[in-house]
Amino acid sequence: MKKEHRTSGSNRKSVNPSPVLTAREGLIVAHHGVAVEVLLSDGLRSMVRVKRRSGHVVGDRVKISGEALDRLPRRTELRRRDARGGIHLVGANFDVLGIVIAPLPVPPPGFIDRAIVAARAADLLPFVVVNKCDLADSAALVSALKTAYAGAIPVFPVSAAAGNGLDPVRDFLKGNRGAFVGITGVGKSSLLNALCPEIDLKVGVISAINRGRHTTTVSTLHSLAAGGELIDTPGFQDFGLVDISAEDLAAYFPGFEKTGDVTCRFRDCRHRTEPGCAVVDLVAKGLLSTERYETYLEMLTEVEAGEAEARRQEWKK
Ligand code: GDP
Ligand code: ZN
Repeated sequence: MKKEHRTSGSNRKSVNPSPVLTAREGLIVAHHGVAVEVLLSDGLRSMVRVKRRSGHVVGDRVKISGEALDRLPRRTELRRRDARGGIHLVGANFDVLGIVIAPLPVPPPGFIDRAIVAARAADLLPFVVVNKCDLADSAALVSALKTAYAGAIPVFPVSAAAGNGLDPVRDFLKGNRGAFVGITGVGKSSLLNALCPEIDLKVGVISAINRGRHTTTVSTLHSLAAGGELIDTPGFQDFGLVDISAEDLAAYFPGFEKTGDVTCRFRDCRHRTEPGCAVVDLVAKGLLSTERYETYLEMLTEVEAGEAEARRQEWKK
Protein backbone atom coordinates (compact mmCIF):
# COMPACT_ATOMS: atom_id res chain seq x y z
CA MET A 1 0.00 0.00 0.00
CA LYS A 2 1.30 3.39 -0.93
CA LYS A 3 -0.33 6.66 -0.05
CA GLU A 4 0.95 10.01 -1.19
CA HIS A 5 0.19 12.97 1.06
CA ARG A 6 -0.06 15.39 -1.82
CA THR A 7 -2.24 13.46 -4.23
CA SER A 8 -3.35 15.88 -6.90
CA GLY A 9 -6.66 15.43 -8.67
CA SER A 10 -5.03 15.44 -12.08
CA ASN A 11 -3.18 12.21 -11.30
CA ARG A 12 -6.42 10.32 -10.85
CA LYS A 13 -7.72 11.41 -14.26
CA SER A 14 -5.25 9.25 -16.16
CA VAL A 15 -7.04 5.95 -16.69
CA ASN A 16 -3.92 4.32 -18.03
CA PRO A 17 -1.03 5.40 -15.89
CA SER A 18 2.31 5.48 -17.63
CA PRO A 19 3.65 1.93 -17.79
CA VAL A 20 7.19 3.22 -17.32
CA LEU A 21 7.59 3.27 -13.53
CA THR A 22 10.96 4.73 -12.73
CA ALA A 23 12.50 3.88 -9.39
CA ARG A 24 12.51 6.94 -7.18
CA GLU A 25 15.03 7.62 -4.47
CA GLY A 26 14.12 8.72 -1.00
CA LEU A 27 14.99 8.87 2.68
CA ILE A 28 13.11 7.03 5.44
CA VAL A 29 12.13 9.80 7.85
CA ALA A 30 9.76 7.88 10.12
CA HIS A 31 9.18 4.28 11.11
CA HIS A 32 5.72 3.31 12.34
CA GLY A 33 6.34 -0.40 12.77
CA VAL A 34 4.04 -1.53 9.95
CA ALA A 35 4.87 1.32 7.57
CA VAL A 36 7.66 3.75 6.86
CA GLU A 37 7.39 7.34 5.71
CA VAL A 38 9.71 8.12 2.81
CA LEU A 39 10.74 11.65 1.87
CA LEU A 40 11.22 11.48 -1.89
CA SER A 41 13.81 13.43 -3.80
CA ASP A 42 11.01 15.50 -5.37
CA GLY A 43 9.88 16.62 -1.90
CA LEU A 44 6.79 14.41 -1.73
CA ARG A 45 6.23 12.10 1.22
CA SER A 46 5.01 8.58 0.78
CA MET A 47 3.84 5.95 3.29
CA VAL A 48 5.05 2.49 2.34
CA ARG A 49 3.90 -0.64 4.13
CA VAL A 50 6.75 -2.86 5.37
CA LYS A 51 7.03 -6.20 7.13
CA ARG A 52 7.72 -5.89 10.86
CA ARG A 53 11.21 -7.32 10.48
CA SER A 54 11.99 -5.77 7.12
CA GLY A 55 15.20 -4.27 8.51
CA HIS A 56 14.41 -0.78 7.19
CA VAL A 57 15.28 1.98 9.65
CA VAL A 58 15.05 5.75 9.86
CA GLY A 59 17.91 7.33 7.90
CA ASP A 60 18.00 4.59 5.28
CA ARG A 61 18.20 5.75 1.69
CA VAL A 62 15.85 3.70 -0.45
CA LYS A 63 14.73 3.23 -4.01
CA ILE A 64 10.99 2.91 -4.41
CA SER A 65 9.66 0.98 -7.36
CA GLY A 66 5.99 0.16 -7.17
CA GLU A 67 5.42 -1.47 -3.78
CA ALA A 68 9.07 -2.43 -3.31
CA LEU A 69 11.66 -0.64 -1.21
CA ASP A 70 15.31 -1.30 -2.04
CA ARG A 71 17.78 -0.19 0.57
CA LEU A 72 20.95 1.59 -0.56
CA PRO A 73 24.23 0.82 1.23
CA ARG A 74 24.61 2.31 4.72
CA ARG A 75 27.48 4.51 5.86
CA THR A 76 26.88 4.01 9.60
CA GLU A 77 24.45 2.19 11.88
CA LEU A 78 22.93 3.46 15.11
CA ARG A 79 22.19 0.71 17.63
CA ARG A 80 20.31 0.57 20.88
CA ARG A 81 20.85 -1.88 23.73
CA ASP A 82 17.75 -2.94 25.63
CA ALA A 83 17.53 -3.76 29.35
CA ARG A 84 18.34 -7.43 28.67
CA GLY A 85 21.43 -6.63 26.60
CA GLY A 86 19.75 -7.27 23.23
CA ILE A 87 20.97 -5.07 20.35
CA HIS A 88 18.47 -3.31 18.05
CA LEU A 89 19.15 -1.18 15.02
CA VAL A 90 17.36 2.18 15.28
CA GLY A 91 18.88 4.29 12.54
CA ALA A 92 21.23 4.50 9.59
CA ASN A 93 23.67 7.02 8.16
CA PHE A 94 24.10 9.02 11.36
CA ASP A 95 27.10 11.33 11.87
CA VAL A 96 27.08 12.38 15.52
CA LEU A 97 25.96 11.01 18.89
CA GLY A 98 25.06 13.39 21.72
CA ILE A 99 25.61 11.85 25.15
CA VAL A 100 23.18 13.64 27.46
CA ILE A 101 23.85 13.83 31.17
CA ALA A 102 22.64 16.05 34.00
CA PRO A 103 23.56 16.71 37.64
CA LEU A 104 20.50 14.57 38.36
CA PRO A 105 19.78 11.73 37.69
CA VAL A 106 23.41 10.57 37.92
CA PRO A 107 24.38 8.09 35.18
CA PRO A 108 25.91 4.70 36.05
CA PRO A 109 29.74 4.71 36.44
CA GLY A 110 31.54 4.79 33.10
CA PHE A 111 28.40 5.71 31.14
CA ILE A 112 30.03 8.52 29.16
CA ASP A 113 33.24 6.63 28.31
CA ARG A 114 31.30 3.55 27.23
CA ALA A 115 29.05 5.63 24.98
CA ILE A 116 32.10 7.41 23.49
CA VAL A 117 33.81 4.10 22.65
CA ALA A 118 30.58 2.70 21.17
CA ALA A 119 30.04 5.84 19.07
CA ARG A 120 33.60 5.87 17.74
CA ALA A 121 33.46 2.13 16.99
CA ALA A 122 30.32 2.85 14.91
CA ASP A 123 32.03 5.76 13.12
CA LEU A 124 29.93 8.43 14.85
CA LEU A 125 31.45 11.58 16.31
CA PRO A 126 30.54 11.75 20.03
CA PHE A 127 29.78 14.94 21.96
CA VAL A 128 28.58 15.53 25.52
CA VAL A 129 25.57 17.65 26.46
CA VAL A 130 25.30 18.59 30.15
CA ASN A 131 21.64 19.49 30.62
CA LYS A 132 19.92 21.20 33.59
CA CYS A 133 22.69 23.78 33.91
CA ASP A 134 20.14 26.00 35.64
CA LEU A 135 20.68 23.76 38.70
CA ALA A 136 23.20 25.01 41.26
CA ASP A 137 25.49 21.96 41.29
CA SER A 138 26.02 21.85 37.52
CA ALA A 139 29.10 24.14 37.33
CA ALA A 140 31.41 21.64 39.08
CA LEU A 141 30.18 18.83 36.82
CA VAL A 142 30.78 20.88 33.67
CA SER A 143 34.28 21.90 34.70
CA ALA A 144 35.23 18.30 35.66
CA LEU A 145 34.03 17.07 32.26
CA LYS A 146 35.78 19.86 30.35
CA THR A 147 39.03 18.88 32.09
CA ALA A 148 38.53 15.15 31.55
CA TYR A 149 37.68 15.46 27.84
CA ALA A 150 39.73 18.56 26.99
CA GLY A 151 40.46 18.76 23.29
CA ALA A 152 39.05 15.30 22.58
CA ILE A 153 35.26 15.60 23.00
CA PRO A 154 33.14 18.77 22.83
CA VAL A 155 31.19 19.45 26.04
CA PHE A 156 28.08 21.66 25.80
CA PRO A 157 26.48 23.00 29.00
CA VAL A 158 22.78 23.70 28.35
CA SER A 159 19.45 24.16 30.00
CA ALA A 160 16.65 22.81 27.86
CA ALA A 161 14.14 24.24 30.33
CA ALA A 162 15.55 27.77 30.26
CA GLY A 163 16.65 27.58 26.63
CA ASN A 164 20.27 28.41 27.50
CA GLY A 165 23.39 27.24 25.67
CA LEU A 166 21.50 25.79 22.72
CA ASP A 167 23.11 27.84 19.91
CA PRO A 168 26.52 26.07 20.11
CA VAL A 169 24.65 22.73 19.93
CA ARG A 170 22.70 23.97 16.87
CA ASP A 171 26.00 25.02 15.26
CA PHE A 172 27.56 21.64 15.97
CA LEU A 173 24.58 19.84 14.45
CA LYS A 174 24.61 21.85 11.21
CA GLY A 175 25.02 19.45 8.30
CA ASN A 176 24.97 16.45 10.64
CA ARG A 177 22.46 13.74 11.42
CA GLY A 178 22.44 13.18 15.17
CA ALA A 179 20.86 11.30 18.06
CA PHE A 180 20.75 11.85 21.82
CA VAL A 181 21.47 8.98 24.19
CA GLY A 182 21.12 9.16 27.96
CA ILE A 183 19.36 7.66 30.95
CA THR A 184 15.70 8.45 31.61
CA GLY A 185 15.14 11.82 33.22
CA VAL A 186 18.22 13.71 32.00
CA GLY A 187 16.06 15.70 29.59
CA LYS A 188 16.43 14.15 26.12
CA SER A 189 12.81 14.89 25.19
CA SER A 190 13.04 18.42 26.57
CA LEU A 191 16.19 18.96 24.52
CA LEU A 192 14.53 17.69 21.33
CA ASN A 193 11.55 19.97 21.93
CA ALA A 194 13.85 22.94 22.53
CA LEU A 195 15.87 22.27 19.36
CA CYS A 196 12.94 21.30 17.09
CA PRO A 197 10.03 23.59 18.01
CA GLU A 198 7.77 21.93 15.43
CA ILE A 199 8.24 18.52 17.04
CA ASP A 200 4.93 18.63 18.95
CA LEU A 201 3.07 19.20 15.70
CA LYS A 202 4.73 16.21 14.06
CA VAL A 203 4.11 13.98 17.06
CA GLY A 204 0.44 14.87 16.68
CA VAL A 205 0.45 13.80 13.02
CA ILE A 206 2.10 10.50 13.84
CA SER A 207 -0.32 9.59 16.61
CA ALA A 208 -3.18 10.22 14.17
CA ILE A 209 -1.69 7.75 11.72
CA ASN A 210 -1.13 5.21 14.47
CA ARG A 211 -4.50 5.54 16.13
CA GLY A 212 -5.46 2.20 17.60
CA ARG A 213 -1.97 0.77 17.28
CA HIS A 214 -0.72 1.56 20.76
CA THR A 215 2.00 -1.10 20.63
CA THR A 216 3.74 0.50 17.64
CA THR A 217 6.94 2.34 18.39
CA VAL A 218 7.67 5.36 16.27
CA SER A 219 11.06 6.76 15.35
CA THR A 220 11.13 10.06 13.52
CA LEU A 221 13.81 12.17 11.90
CA HIS A 222 13.39 15.92 12.44
CA SER A 223 15.04 18.64 10.37
CA LEU A 224 16.56 21.52 12.28
CA ALA A 225 15.92 25.09 11.12
CA ALA A 226 19.66 25.89 11.11
CA GLY A 227 20.54 22.64 9.31
CA GLY A 228 21.09 19.08 10.39
CA GLU A 229 18.69 16.44 11.64
CA LEU A 230 17.83 14.78 14.94
CA ILE A 231 16.16 11.44 15.51
CA ASP A 232 13.45 11.06 18.09
CA THR A 233 13.39 7.41 19.04
CA PRO A 234 11.80 5.94 22.16
CA GLY A 235 13.89 4.40 24.93
CA PHE A 236 17.30 5.35 23.62
CA GLN A 237 19.19 4.91 26.89
CA ASP A 238 22.15 2.79 25.97
CA PHE A 239 24.07 2.72 22.73
CA GLY A 240 24.94 -0.87 21.81
CA LEU A 241 28.57 -1.96 21.57
CA VAL A 242 29.06 -4.77 19.08
CA ASP A 243 32.05 -6.87 18.06
CA ILE A 244 34.86 -4.56 19.02
CA SER A 245 38.44 -5.79 19.36
CA ALA A 246 40.76 -5.09 22.31
CA GLU A 247 42.93 -2.99 19.95
CA ASP A 248 39.93 -0.89 18.89
CA LEU A 249 38.87 -0.43 22.51
CA ALA A 250 42.28 1.02 23.40
CA ALA A 251 42.28 3.16 20.24
CA TYR A 252 38.82 4.59 20.96
CA PHE A 253 38.96 4.95 24.75
CA PRO A 254 38.91 8.70 25.54
CA GLY A 255 41.97 9.88 27.46
CA PHE A 256 44.44 7.31 26.11
CA GLU A 257 45.46 9.88 23.47
CA LYS A 258 47.20 11.72 26.33
CA THR A 259 50.08 9.21 26.04
CA GLY A 260 51.12 11.29 23.01
CA ASP A 261 54.43 10.07 21.59
CA VAL A 262 55.09 7.75 24.53
CA THR A 263 54.48 4.12 23.57
CA CYS A 264 54.09 0.99 25.67
CA ARG A 265 57.06 -1.40 25.89
CA PHE A 266 55.07 -4.19 24.24
CA ARG A 267 53.45 -3.48 20.93
CA ASP A 268 50.45 -5.70 21.75
CA CYS A 269 50.07 -4.16 25.23
CA ARG A 270 46.51 -4.37 26.57
CA HIS A 271 47.31 -1.75 29.20
CA ARG A 272 46.46 -4.04 32.10
CA THR A 273 49.47 -5.39 34.03
CA GLU A 274 52.20 -5.23 31.40
CA PRO A 275 55.48 -3.56 32.47
CA GLY A 276 56.39 -0.30 30.77
CA CYS A 277 52.74 0.55 29.95
CA ALA A 278 52.19 4.17 28.90
CA VAL A 279 48.54 4.09 30.00
CA VAL A 280 49.34 2.78 33.50
CA ASP A 281 51.88 5.60 33.62
CA LEU A 282 49.13 8.16 32.81
CA VAL A 283 47.09 6.83 35.74
CA ALA A 284 50.14 6.92 38.06
CA LYS A 285 50.74 10.56 37.08
CA GLY A 286 47.11 11.46 37.69
CA LEU A 287 46.50 12.35 34.01
CA LEU A 288 43.76 9.70 33.73
CA SER A 289 41.48 9.07 36.70
CA THR A 290 41.52 5.66 38.37
CA GLU A 291 37.74 5.56 37.94
CA ARG A 292 37.99 5.95 34.16
CA TYR A 293 40.84 3.44 33.96
CA GLU A 294 38.60 0.98 35.87
CA THR A 295 35.94 1.50 33.19
CA TYR A 296 38.52 0.60 30.54
CA LEU A 297 39.52 -2.57 32.44
CA GLU A 298 35.88 -3.62 32.79
CA MET A 299 35.27 -3.05 29.08
CA LEU A 300 38.46 -4.94 28.23
CA THR A 301 37.25 -7.94 30.24
CA GLU A 302 33.93 -7.84 28.34
CA VAL A 303 35.69 -7.53 24.98
CA GLU A 304 38.02 -10.44 25.82
CA ALA A 305 35.06 -12.58 26.87
CA GLY A 306 33.47 -11.78 23.50
CA GLU A 307 36.67 -12.69 21.66
CA ALA A 308 36.95 -15.99 23.56
CA GLU A 309 33.33 -16.81 22.73
CA ALA A 310 33.95 -16.04 19.04
CA ARG A 311 36.97 -18.41 19.05
CA ARG A 312 34.85 -21.16 20.68
CA GLN A 313 32.24 -20.75 17.94
CA GLU A 314 35.00 -20.93 15.33
CA TRP A 315 36.35 -24.25 16.73
CA LYS A 316 32.84 -25.75 16.68
CA LYS A 317 32.65 -25.33 12.92
P1 GDP B 1 14.16 12.18 29.23
O1 GDP B 1 13.64 11.03 30.04
O2 GDP B 1 15.65 12.11 29.10
O3 GDP B 1 13.49 12.34 27.91
O4 GDP B 1 13.89 13.51 30.09
P2 GDP B 1 12.67 14.56 30.00
O5 GDP B 1 12.87 15.50 28.87
O6 GDP B 1 11.39 13.83 30.07
O7 GDP B 1 12.92 15.39 31.34
C1 GDP B 1 12.96 14.77 32.63
C2 GDP B 1 12.69 15.81 33.70
O8 GDP B 1 13.73 16.77 33.73
C3 GDP B 1 11.39 16.59 33.48
O9 GDP B 1 10.78 16.76 34.72
C4 GDP B 1 11.88 17.91 32.91
O10 GDP B 1 11.00 18.96 33.23
C5 GDP B 1 13.21 18.08 33.62
N1 GDP B 1 14.14 18.90 32.84
C6 GDP B 1 14.43 18.78 31.51
N2 GDP B 1 15.32 19.74 31.13
C7 GDP B 1 15.60 20.45 32.25
C8 GDP B 1 16.47 21.57 32.51
O11 GDP B 1 17.15 22.12 31.64
N3 GDP B 1 16.52 22.00 33.80
C9 GDP B 1 15.79 21.44 34.80
N4 GDP B 1 15.92 21.95 36.02
N5 GDP B 1 14.96 20.41 34.59
C10 GDP B 1 14.86 19.92 33.34
ZN1 ZN C 1 50.06 -0.32 27.66
